[in-house]
Amino acid sequence: MSTNPAAPPPGFYAQNGQFFCEGVAMTDLAAQFGTPSYVYSAALMRQAWQNFHRQVTASLSPAHAPLICFAVKANPNLAVLRLFAALGAGADIVSSGELQRALKAGITAEKIVFAGVGKRDDEIAAALDHGILQFSVESVEELQRIAALAAAKNVTARAAIRVNPDIDGGTHAKISTGNKHNKFGIEQAQVAEIFAHARQLPSLQLDGLSVHIGSQLTELKPLALAFAALRQLVLSLRQSGHRLTRLDLGGGIGVSYRGEKLIDLAAYAALVNENVGDLGCRLIFEPGRFLVAKAGILLTRVIATKANSSRNFVILDAAMNDLMRPALYDSYHDIVPVVTRHAPPQRVDVVGPVCESADIFAEHRHLPPLTPGDLVMIADTGAYGASMSNSYNSRHLPAEIMVEDSKARLVRRAISTLDLLQFEPD
Ligand SMILES: *Cc1c(COP(=O)(O)O)cnc(C)c1O
Repeated sequence: MSTNPAAPPPGFYAQNGQFFCEGVAMTDLAAQFGTPSYVYSAALMRQAWQNFHRQVTASLSPAHAPLICFAVKANPNLAVLRLFAALGAGADIVSSGELQRALKAGITAEKIVFAGVGKRDDEIAAALDHGILQFSVESVEELQRIAALAAAKNVTARAAIRVNPDIDGGTHAKISTGNKHNKFGIEQAQVAEIFAHARQLPSLQLDGLSVHIGSQLTELKPLALAFAALRQLVLSLRQSGHRLTRLDLGGGIGVSYRGEKLIDLAAYAALVNENVGDLGCRLIFEPGRFLVAKAGILLTRVIATKANSSRNFVILDAAMNDLMRPALYDSYHDIVPVVTRHAPPQRVDVVGPVCESADIFAEHRHLPPLTPGDLVMIADTGAYGASMSNSYNSRHLPAEIMVEDSKARLVRRAISTLDLLQFEPD
């Protein structure tokens, strides 16, 4: 008899009528850690990384020294950052808090890029002290502030201009960042003047461009336009005698929440090669969602059901404070009972207990009959799930659990109101 049972499949799967994550039963996780909790599959995160790495970075010439900087805001849990750090990831950060997390996870400053339209002086100073790879500069005023802070510290700040190419990413308005009316980046027409100005700032090494036009992109076309715009800028800046050594191509690659047609990574890599492959620049990628979205679920329990003349409500113990995406972006997430039910589906609205009409996870969803106590999973919530959670209605911040090699570990315990009350004077 074999004492070496086959390794469980990666990710989330049903077996004998109930769901597991990498060999661990969801019912056991709920019993041990409570609900609502985020559950992550380490194997799925690694798979997504390998996928991106194999199809995109490994297909480029090593001369590009391509670097994948995980967008920390998608999932800043230390265990997640450590997993990617061990695979060679850098970090794309948007605050000094994310800088602290990335450094604590063992990501060296040499692999950290810093974006964001409102970097405070203390945040810039912290990034300078550690000597990060790049500031992605979003205004002239910020450029001057970074230069002044670097001069005062007697260091050189490495920077790129974040270009706003005025392109519609074709995504939800609230996650679109590359339009002229968005607050992000600097318009192309201003870039040359800024490079010229930067020559007078010896504490600033401005030698890169960056672009990030939005999140959950499902079409190559907008990216093609953005990369072509970068190419033109590089060529014209070089003609004016400027040195360009780094191109940061941003993130934004979408995932399938509801059977969306997706960007083919091989075609994406070809597009990169075609537009910027011959420019002799180091290439930086900033995937966030792509690496973690499918690797997480929100495990929650039905508190109650109620019906009126028009609707059947299923009320969960998770709410919009745990997972904001449906309320914020009208996003779709599959909702799956942990224990399989062989009964005809009912049309229900799945909601949370928070006192807001926006606290809805799904409207008119066809689900098998659910009763109080039943466990359900809200699928594909590994990105922008826990990272956006808050304590509205004085609710707990949800726990986070990492499952790997048939073992589960708590990677953030739930944070209770009692925890938070410590910070308010008696
Ligand atoms: C949020 C963000 C990303 C990551 O976006 P995803 O859609 O999660 O890949 C990358 N770069 C910048 C500058 C960002 O703000």
